[in-house]
Amino acid sequence: MRRIYLDYAATTPVHSDVVQAMLPYFSQHFGNPSSIHFLGQDAKEAVEQARQQLAHLIGAKSEEIVFTSSGTEADNLAIKGIALANRDRGNHIITSCIEHHAVLEPCHWLEKQGFSVTYLPVDGYGMVSPDDVKKALTGKTILVSIMHANNEIGTLEPLAEIARVTREAGVYLHTDAVQTVGHIPVNVEQMGVDLLSLSAHKFYGPKGIGALYVRKGTKIAPLVHGGGQEKNRRSGTENVPGIVGLGKAAKIAERELPDEATRLTALRDELIQGILDQISDIRLNGHPTMRLPNNVNISVAYIEGEAMLLNLDLAGICASTGSACSSASLQPSHVLTALGLAHTQAHGSLRFTLGKWTSKEDVDTVLNVFPTIVAKLRAVSPLLKESSRT
Ligand code: PLP
Repeated sequence: MRRIYLDYAATTPVHSDVVQAMLPYFSQHFGNPSSIHFLGQDAKEAVEQARQQLAHLIGAKSEEIVFTSSGTEADNLAIKGIALANRDRGNHIITSCIEHHAVLEPCHWLEKQGFSVTYLPVDGYGMVSPDDVKKALTGKTILVSIMHANNEIGTLEPLAEIARVTREAGVYLHTDAVQTVGHIPVNVEQMGVDLLSLSAHKFYGPKGIGALYVRKGTKIAPLVHGGGQEKNRRSGTENVPGIVGLGKAAKIAERELPDEATRLTALRDELIQGILDQISDIRLNGHPTMRLPNNVNISVAYIEGEAMLLNLDLAGICASTGSACSSASLQPSHVLTALGLAHTQAHGSLRFTLGKWTSKEDVDTVLNVFPTIVAKLRAVSPLLKESSRT
């Protein structure tokens, strides 16, 4: 059976050139970048080259890049690090209610430490209003954290406009750009952000390595204390192969991004249109145009996302539910409910995310297989029977 991977937002395969670039740093160039001898200096040079490659991709200076173990750690460092270092200026943070848990959980933790957090609502497309950000500012606000693109529904947030508001107020702006770096142009100057999180495994780099961009002059406290690596902003011996892989992935992304974004946008739109044309009682979640080039998120009435997922899996197609229930609680996605979806709609959602190895043939196969799965599940759906009785 042909396998079709359409879950690139969860993770991506590592590019073979990235693997090749990393391999020597496990074996012959195994030195610790803090060592004075030549093996240490080899490793240090590789780390600094990767820092430059990544900085170039996002329009930053290399000294503004802090390597972390993941996008999650970068988000934690940004939010807790700013909160702890700027407590004397205020204790208020603004974020949105559709952020990834890597942002929401540090905010919840800070609330327990005496900080206050405003969770802004979004419109029906998942967009945060810059006006709402402005209205939420108080004299005690020290940080605004709004994601660049939402990982479930793909909506792109108006960061440049939000930055105009935060600049005027003299408040730091952080963005979680884990889903955008390497996929669409990201430039920290044009966006006007002070902090930006990213993660290598979302753009054909290895897992377990991420980075936080920290604008020069930003007051931030470290969360990991120790040997003072990363200019005292994140201690711990550097993950040299991971960092080299991140740098290489950044370099490849810079070269391939424009054409790839155009190619994926066309395939995305073909998939969306094909689904909407063939299946009734369906809605596209997220913004129709201001969305990631690779994201398709739909709610299919009368059936469960998990049932669609399992049937797709049996047909060799990997997708994801937009409504991934945290298995114990069976709560629908906080993102979909924030858009105003009823719980049944949120439970009936599905996300396809496309990537480098997605072909037109893959999209055609999904358009062939998926309507049949929906029809089969609807034929036995108690929800459909209930709705036709009312
Ligand atoms: N932020 C967003 C928007 C994400 O999509 C993810 C991963 O799914 C993360 C943060 C966490 O990144 P990592 O998997 O590198 O910890």
